[in-house]
Amino acid sequence: MARVGLGYDSHRFCAGRPLMLGGVRIPHDKGLAGHSDADALLHALVDAMLGAIGAGDIGEIFPDTDPRWKDADSAQFVQHALSLVRSAGLRISNCDLTIITQSPKIGPHKADIRARVSELLSIGVSAVGVKAKTNEHMGWIGAGEGLAALAVVCLEDADAGA
Ligand code: MG
Repeated sequence: MARVGLGYDSHRFCAGRPLMLGGVRIPHDKGLAGHSDADALLHALVDAMLGAIGAGDIGEIFPDTDPRWKDADSAQFVQHALSLVRSAGLRISNCDLTIITQSPKIGPHKADIRARVSELLSIGVSAVGVKAKTNEHMGWIGAGEGLAALAVVCLEDADAGA
C-alpha cells in the first residue's frame, strides 16, 4: 500500500550563518535563522516522511528548546525519520521538493541537492525531484525576508517488488 506525506517549512534570513538547503551549503550573504542549522528543505522533507507514517512532526521529535539540536546538522533528523519509515516496514519510493526563494538562485545547486538528498535517503537520484521558484517578488518571500520549502514523499511496502 502506498502512502504519501506532505511537508512545509519556512525560515527567516539572517546574517552570520551559512545557508543550508537540502544538506548542501549554498553560497549566499545570509543564512537562515533557527535553532538547528535551519535547513528548511530537510525540515520539510522530515515532516513529509513523518506525515506519511502518522508519526507527528519535526517539532515534536526535535524540539527547538532542546540544547542537543542547537546548530544541529538537519541530516540527522532525516536519518531518524528514515529509521522510523523503515521500522514501519516501508521504504521511500520517491520524493519531490520545492524551494521558494527570491534569492539566491537555486538552479546552479539543484544537482548537488539532489545528490545529497538521494544519499541521505538511500534512493536513486532519479527518485529525487528538486525544483526552485521565486515568488515573483510578492509578499515576504518576494521581499527576501526568508524562504519556504515544500516536500512530498511517497512510501511503499519495503517488501514490494522492485
Ligand atoms: Mg524548520
